[in-house]
Amino acid sequence: MLALYDTAARGVRSLDVGQDRLFRLYVCGPTVYELPHVGHGRALLVYDVLRRYLEGRGVPVRHVSNVTDVDDKIIARALSEGETPEAIAARYEEEWWAASDRLGVLRPSSAPRATEYIEEMVGLIAELVAARVAYEAPDGVYLETGKVSDYGLLTPQALADLRAGARVETVAGKRSPLDFALWKLAKPAEPAWPSPWGAGRPGWHTECVVMALDLLGEDFDLHAGGTDLRFPHHENERAQASALGRGFARHWMHHEMVNAAGGEKMARSAGNFTTLTELLDEVDPRAYRLLVLRAQYRQPMEVSPAALADATAGLARLDALARRLLAPGGSAPGGSGSGGSAPGGIAADPAVLERFGACLADDLDTPGAAAVLFDAVRAANAAADAGDNETAAGLARAVEAAAAWVGLPLRGGRAEVPEAIQELVARRERARTARDFAAADRLRDELARAGWAVEDTPAGSLVRPSSA
Ligand SMILES: [Zn+2]
Repeated sequence: MLALYDTAARGVRSLDVGQDRLFRLYVCGPTVYELPHVGHGRALLVYDVLRRYLEGRGVPVRHVSNVTDVDDKIIARALSEGETPEAIAARYEEEWWAASDRLGVLRPSSAPRATEYIEEMVGLIAELVAARVAYEAPDGVYLETGKVSDYGLLTPQALADLRAGARVETVAGKRSPLDFALWKLAKPAEPAWPSPWGAGRPGWHTECVVMALDLLGEDFDLHAGGTDLRFPHHENERAQASALGRGFARHWMHHEMVNAAGGEKMARSAGNFTTLTELLDEVDPRAYRLLVLRAQYRQPMEVSPAALADATAGLARLDALARRLLAPGGSAPGGSGSGGSAPGGIAADPAVLERFGACLADDLDTPGAAAVLFDAVRAANAAADAGDNETAAGLARAVEAAAAWVGLPLRGGRAEVPEAIQELVARRERARTARDFAAADRLRDELARAGWAVEDTPAGSLVRPSSA
């Protein structure tokens, strides 16, 4: 039901997924010190699609994603803006959820903040110190990576490069350049919490391991995040669990980064869309979702004005299909959500949904799934052109259900028709059924004055805005 590339195994592996067991997913969340950028949008969407795929298959998912609200970057931002770190974190956390909601991304089951987990983090660090895999240095507590036998499992190359001496910073008291801070002693005026080693704050790598183990338990199903987090973040999360003999993620999933036009890394200076918020002011959030779907998650993705225009055009084709074939009047069952039946009681074409789901199951092949979707759009339009309304409606219904499955609601279908208009269409249907054609014509005129055109087809009455 689901196979994904596993960074640790270096190959595509099946996951143990079923409707009768909870799927436990951990996704590294944001450090809240700036507006979310376009790459964050991709991360949100990739894991949202994965989760919706599973939930659509009937698999219950517990999705945990942290909010890092204490960090060097937050402190630096607070200093530069003359605000408190708490105020900075609160403001940018709010911006994060606002952008996530605009993208139509499901909120995690739990989104714990680092500051809510300090005590548990101190507890884990104390365990690591007691186990003699962590030690105190003048500026804090470090994990001794040399004592973790499988350190480097996720990123052997990064470690080989570091060991070869490339770009190694040295800190007094650190036993190896690979050792990392578990606890950072506070400098004056920095946020600080008490600990056995002095007042300070936990390191970022400790946050995720503590929350994942607390909220998901050992040996949870999947740990996910960007390729930029493989090293050092994920390697160091893993090292802490491993050093204590605790089971951690069974599977590691990493998505690739977003590039600006021409493969350039998406940077604040790239001059394209710099923040996700800015991008969502310019384009339909559904177009960005479609753009993300059209890229396989393990490939870099280009976000350029041309790519966005292309996705916007694709979205318009989907909406046009919904207007043409999914805007029924009368009492035909709904035009939104998955399953159900089309105008006139026609069911979604099962072959389309099966092919669509099979692509998603295969290492989240969303470009393949998008191709299935657009093939069905072409076939639905061709069938409608040929007057085969039944085939057209079944295909359109499948397009709608498949798109909804991955969080892409179509517009122009019945769901978008105001209730008052639906009521007029229903009254007209009843008049026609009673062969009261004068009343039916009056209702058609009334709809026209309200800006809606109605068309009678064997599959029922179709209504759409007159201008469309
Ligand atoms: Zn993390």
